Amino acid sequence: MLQAPPAEPGMREEEVDTPALLIDLDAFEANLDAMAARLAGTGAKLRAHAKTHKSAAIAHQQMRRGAVGQCVQKVAEAEALAWGGVPDILVSNQVVDARKLRRLAALSGIAKVAVCADDAAGIDTIAAVAEAAGRRMEVLVEIDVGAGRCGVDPGPEAVALAGRIAASPHLIFGGLQAYHGSAQHRRTADERRAAIAGAAEGVRRTVEQLRQQGLDCPIVGGAGTGTYELELEAGLWTEIQAGSYAFMDADYAANGAPPPFRQSLFVLAQVMSAPRDGVAVLDAGHKAVAVDSGLPLVWQRPGIRYVGASDEHGALAVEGGARPKLGERLRLVPGHCDPTVDRYDWYVGVRGGRVECLWPVSARGGMV
Ligand code: PLP
Ligand code: MN
Repeated sequence: MLQAPPAEPGMREEEVDTPALLIDLDAFEANLDAMAARLAGTGAKLRAHAKTHKSAAIAHQQMRRGAVGQCVQKVAEAEALAWGGVPDILVSNQVVDARKLRRLAALSGIAKVAVCADDAAGIDTIAAVAEAAGRRMEVLVEIDVGAGRCGVDPGPEAVALAGRIAASPHLIFGGLQAYHGSAQHRRTADERRAAIAGAAEGVRRTVEQLRQQGLDCPIVGGAGTGTYELELEAGLWTEIQAGSYAFMDADYAANGAPPPFRQSLFVLAQVMSAPRDGVAVLDAGHKAVAVDSGLPLVWQRPGIRYVGASDEHGALAVEGGARPKLGERLRLVPGHCDPTVDRYDWYVGVRGGRVECLWPVSARGGMV
C-alpha cells in the first residue's frame, strides 16, 4: 500500500512525520552537478544506476545534466522508469525468464530497452521472445571482470556470445557489461586500483578480439561510485553506471580516499524514549534503515551514537551533556543507501530547514 506522504511543501523539517527519507537538496544537486562536470569532455557518459534512487523524478534530473539514460537491475524497475518517461534503459543484469522478457519487449514500444546475457541458451530465449513480439532487442554480453558474480570470462567465450547475438535477425549486439562490484567498497585506493587494472585488462582484450571478428562494441558499461575515476582513467568504458554518488552513505564515506560527494540522503527519526542517563531510543530500527553495511551514523550530533537496531527501535548511546529531548528529530546517515531507499514510498526534499518537494520512490519494492 502506498503510504501517505510524511510532509507537505513549506513545512519545517522538525514537523516531518517520522521515520522519513530525507534529501538535502543542496547536497544532492551538488553531487549531480559534480558528476556531470567530471564526465564532461571525457567521451564517457553517465548511465546512472536507478537501483539506488528507484525514482523517475531523480532519473530526469540526472538526464537533464547529460546522463544518456538509466541502468536498472529488474524488469519492474525498467517498467516504472519507462512509464515515468525515461527514454533509454539498460537492465544491467541477466533476465532469463520468457515472461519477464515479454514484459521488456512490450516496454520497448515506449523506451529504448537493452538487457544483458551471459549464456547461449539465454540469448536464444531473448531472440525467441523478440521474434514473437515483432521487435529487435538489444543485448549486451556481461563479462566477469573480477567480482565473481554474473558474466562469462573475458575473451573467446564473450566473443562467441557476442557473435551469437549479432547473428540473430531479432537481436542487436549492444556491447559489453563490465562491472566490478566487489571493488567498489574495498577500503584502500590501492586495492581498488589493482582491481580495476585487472578489469581493464579483460575489457581491452575482449574488445580487441571482438574487433578481430568484425564485431563493433558500441557500449562498454560498468563502474560505480567507488571506482569510476579508475574506469575513466582506463579510457575503455563508454558508460559509467554510478548510482550511490547522488546520495552517499556511511559505508562509502569509510573508504580510504572516499569519493568527493556530499551526504545528501538521511533518515529522519524521532526520539521516542529517553528513559535513563546515557540511553535514548529512536523510532527507526532496521525496518527504517538498512544495516547490511553497518549501523547508521547520527548526523552532526557529537556525543550521540546509534548502537543497536531492532525492528522498530534504534538504540542510542548518549554521552553526558548530549542527551536529546523526547520528541526531538535526528538525522541518520544510512550505512547503505540503496536498500534504505527501498523501504520508503516518498522522498522528502528539504532546503534551508524547509520541505521543498515530495518525490515518489516510484520503482520501489519491485521484487520482479
Ligand atoms: N552497476 C551495477 C551493475 C551495479 O550492480 C551497481 C551497484 O551495485 C552499480 C552499477 C552502482 O554502484 P554504486 O551505487 O556503488 O555507484
Ligand atoms: Mn549499494
